Amino acid sequence: MKSKQLPNRILLSEREIPKKWYNIAADLEEKPRPPLDAETRQPISPDKLSAIFPQRLIEQEVSSKKFIKIPEELLKAYAKWRPTPLVRARGLEELLETPAHIYFKNESVSPAGSHKLNTALAQAYYNKLEGVKRLVTETGAGQWGSALAMACNHFELGCKVYMVRSSYDQKPYRRTMMRMWGAEVSASPSEETRAGREILNQHPDSSGSLGIAISEAVEVAASDAETKYSLGSVLNHVLLHQTIIGEEALKQMDKVEEYPDTIIGCVGGGSNFSGFAFPFIREKLEDKTRAKKLRVIAVEPSACPTLTRGVFAYDYGDTAGLTPLLPMYSLGHDYIPPAIHAGGLRYHGMAPLVSLLVSAGIIQPVAYTQNEVFDAALKFARSEGIIPAPESSHAIRATIDEALRAKSEGKKEVIVFNLSGHGHFDMSAYDDYLQGRLADSTIDEEDLQKYLNQLRHQSFPV
Ligand SMILES: *Cc1c(COP(=O)(O)O)cnc(C)c1O
Repeated sequence: MKSKQLPNRILLSEREIPKKWYNIAADLEEKPRPPLDAETRQPISPDKLSAIFPQRLIEQEVSSKKFIKIPEELLKAYAKWRPTPLVRARGLEELLETPAHIYFKNESVSPAGSHKLNTALAQAYYNKLEGVKRLVTETGAGQWGSALAMACNHFELGCKVYMVRSSYDQKPYRRTMMRMWGAEVSASPSEETRAGREILNQHPDSSGSLGIAISEAVEVAASDAETKYSLGSVLNHVLLHQTIIGEEALKQMDKVEEYPDTIIGCVGGGSNFSGFAFPFIREKLEDKTRAKKLRVIAVEPSACPTLTRGVFAYDYGDTAGLTPLLPMYSLGHDYIPPAIHAGGLRYHGMAPLVSLLVSAGIIQPVAYTQNEVFDAALKFARSEGIIPAPESSHAIRATIDEALRAKSEGKKEVIVFNLSGHGHFDMSAYDDYLQGRLADSTIDEEDLQKYLNQLRHQSFPV
């Protein structure tokens, strides 16, 4: 049994931290469409973006360079917890009695508890370089807010976070975590911004949404010269920073002399999935023999089915329509998904790069209900000992189904998924699940169809 001699945890030394991020846009034949200025319907001018983003990040956003060097100071910050382990999930393999080899990249070991710190530190660093004093952002489940709070603290910047009301109430300890790192936190919709007040006027009990919270944060950044906005997902530069995950994973797979047949990640705005998957997809685009048959699966909640049911169109990134129009799969910018526990996946849109790869057939999307996902989380917690984030558990659900399929077909496949974060702040959700109280929140079909039709019939398709 040679495989038994392989290590469970495949580790890299600090010296092996990748020194470059990978920019997949450089390798795509069909280039992503540019974001459009909502007023003129013309590609957005970089000037307009510079009101809310620093120059270096705007350059990365539109860059066509294949690799971008990671600054020395940032590598030092990454070394606080990177490289992260790649783990062979032997416990899960045994539980499923599958011949498949299952691995997961463990991004839950970051101080903030998820992959989000990879881009939070990068964004704080570039803002600091350009003399910005404070960052403002939104957070859904609280992971992005925590990561940005930690990063701002590291680079001595102020930090203001608009936290989606439903998470603010469900996850008080995420709030505390952000405050421990010195951030200011408000529930969104708030009375502090025009966007927030308008929503509250119409829906005084609004549970909020990422789209609304983005509107509030963008509004604050646009009206204060020393404050810039920071986004935790969706945009090209965010996905770029996350590619350190996949670059490490490639090196780690080399160490065990295996290569994935299937890679899997969960998708909210698409950043952890992309960061993990793009370096592997690069090998596919380069026509490397070993990557020819690679399957790439993106997993989303059935309650917010952006890729499986959405429309590929130009849409706003936020609810109030303050952002440029992005070419992406969307459910409609003012569609408000039901309040599921995987708050980080509760977003109406999707990264334009992910959207493009889905429409090109390179990425395969699937969707699961909340109870299917929590069942997978329980199996993973009991076989691997790690309590996963509900978001990450979407990837676990798909991994389990793939491993069971491999079993029924008698195939020794290699399946690798990204464990984007831990679920230590999601105990009330897991408690509901254990007590059988977890509902499979269903979408209001009529409502959804209304928004999808609006997207289908708008005058500026992708
Ligand atoms: C935010 C978050 C996600 C979803 O965001 P992506 O940009 O799609 O990665 C997934 N998992 C965890 C743990 C998160 O914190």
